[in-house]
This record gives sequence, C-alpha cells and structure tokens, in this order.
Amino acid sequence: MNILVLLKQTFDTEEKIVLENGKVSEEGVEFVINPYDEYAVEEAIKIKEELGGEVTTISLGPDRFESAIRTALAMGVDKAILVDDPDVFGDEYTAAKVLTEVIKDQTYDLILAGYVAVDDASGQVPQRIADMLNIPIISTAVKIEIDGSNITVHRDVEGDTEILEAPLPVIITSQQGLNDPRYPSLPGIMKAKKKPLDRLSADDIGVSPDEVKAKTEVIETFLPPKKEAGRILSGEISDQGRELVQLLRSEAKVI
Ligand SMILES: Cc1cc2nc3c(=O)[nH]c(=O)nc-3n(C[C@H](O)[C@H](O)[C@H](O)COP(=O)(O)OP(=O)(O)OC[C@H]3O[C@@H](n4cnc5c(N)ncnc54)[C@H](O)[C@@H]3O)c2cc1C
Repeated sequence: MNILVLLKQTFDTEEKIVLENGKVSEEGVEFVINPYDEYAVEEAIKIKEELGGEVTTISLGPDRFESAIRTALAMGVDKAILVDDPDVFGDEYTAAKVLTEVIKDQTYDLILAGYVAVDDASGQVPQRIADMLNIPIISTAVKIEIDGSNITVHRDVEGDTEILEAPLPVIITSQQGLNDPRYPSLPGIMKAKKKPLDRLSADDIGVSPDEVKAKTEVIETFLPPKKEAGRILSGEISDQGRELVQLLRSEAKVI
C-alpha cells in the first residue's frame, strides 16, 4: 500500500497573530505540522504498519517547512517531497495544481490530507486535487478500514456519522478523532535526519509559473475588533429587562 500524505506547515495554534504592513508577521513564530495533517500522517503510518508499503509526504511551501517534514519522518514516514519554489506559491488553485503535478509522478493507492489547514482555512486543496486527478474524495474521516482494493470510511457530519465506501485510489481528509498521533521517538528523530527529502522546483515538475498563476487575490487582511468589556445591569428585574431591550436597540443595534 503506497500512501501519499499532503502535509502543510502552519502556525502553532497557540500563536498570537500580528499584522505588519497588512500581512501576517512570521517574526518569532513557532510552526508545527497542520494538526489535521498530523492525523493523516499517523493514519498513514498505522496502515503501513498493518499492510506494508511506503508513506511519502508531499508539500508546497518555503524552506521552513523542513522542520514539519522532519517531524513526520521521525514519526515513521519513509520519504518526503517539498516544492520550495516561490515562483509557484499562490492561491488554492496554484497549490492544488502544483501538488497534482507532483502526485502524477508517484505510484499510490491512497492519498491522505487534513480536512482543513488551520491558518488559511479554505478547505479546498484536497477537493481540487481529487477533481484534477479524477478520483473520489471522502472528507472528515474519523475511522478508516481497508479491505483489498476497497476502503470504508466513517465520516463526521456535524456530530453524526456517515459511512461511505470507495474503490482505491481515493483521497481521504482527516478529522479530529481519527487517531492519537504518536510522539516521535528519539531513535525516530535520529533516523529522520537521514531519510530522503527531495526538494523540487517548478522546472523539475514541468510546471510554468504562468500556468499555475493564482486566480484570486487577497485584497485586505485585518484582525477582528477588540472585544469590549461587558456591562452588568442593576436594579429591579423589570427595569433591567426594559434597559436591556433599549440597549439592544440603540447601542448594539441588533433588534
Ligand atoms: C509560502 C506560501 C505563500 C503563499 N502565498 C500566497 C499568496 O501570495 N496569495 C494567497 O492568496 N495565498 C498565499 N498562500 C496561501 C495559500 O494560498 C494556501 O496556503 C493554499 O492555497 C492552501 O489553502 P489552505 O491553506 O486554506 O488549505 P486547505 O485547503 O484548508 O488545506 C486542506 C489540506 O490540504 C493540504 N494542503 C494545503 N496546502 C498545502 C500545501 N501547501 N502543501 C501540502 N499540502 C497542503 C493539507 O493536507 C491540508 O490539511 C501562501 C501559502 C504559502 C505556504
């Protein structure tokens, strides 16, 4: 079973977002594997341990992605591919097109990804790739069972569960609850340093920057307004009720 995992590095979810000149500053920020991709990595390793085969991560991003990739290699991934060419960094269309070109050169039975990247959070890339490869996609998996050339997936649907089957190859995106990602062991960390990480440029994958040019443009990035302090009303409960309705109408303007 050859498994590809789409792996994106994102801000640590504890990080405070700071804007500088209208862009999110990366100054002093801690980066991690996108949490949903960590479930995908764990699941790929578990399937490999049960059925044999190889796990390869594929990423599109800058040089800093290497630390997330090495963590995945230390967990048990066999090898990794990183397209670290700024000429092909763009929007969701760009990411999907570039990753698809890399995938086309691989032999695979299954592709695992996160259901969303916690930073840009478009939840589009795996769906676009499935369309470009013309293979099925099942999103938000919380349980995966493989039987020969078929896969059964339990997916989370807003707290309910839906069970779907598909023939391999298929793309599955992972949801929280799929598994408990392992911590890399010390020997795993040592081994990861020597595992292959292929760095590719647009040229290497035969993609011209024009062909994958972003189709969307970010016009503005801004932080949500600061939360204002709450107000506690006092007096008779009937007076409080009247004051509340008045405030909702005149100040909050919600009624
Ligand atoms: C270096 C860099 C430069 C960027 N520059 C721009 C820019 O100029 N303009 C702009 O609009 N946006 C830019 N982006 C944001 C970029 O468009 C999005 O990161 C990308 O389109 C994916 O969207 P998403 O993160 O919302 O992924 P989602 O669709 O939410 O991700 C779902 C899953 O897809 C997979 N995936 C997503 N992205 C990647 C990836 N890069 N590598 C591997 N797997 C992935 C992961 O498994 C992830 O869990 C940049 C991103 C990076 C990393």
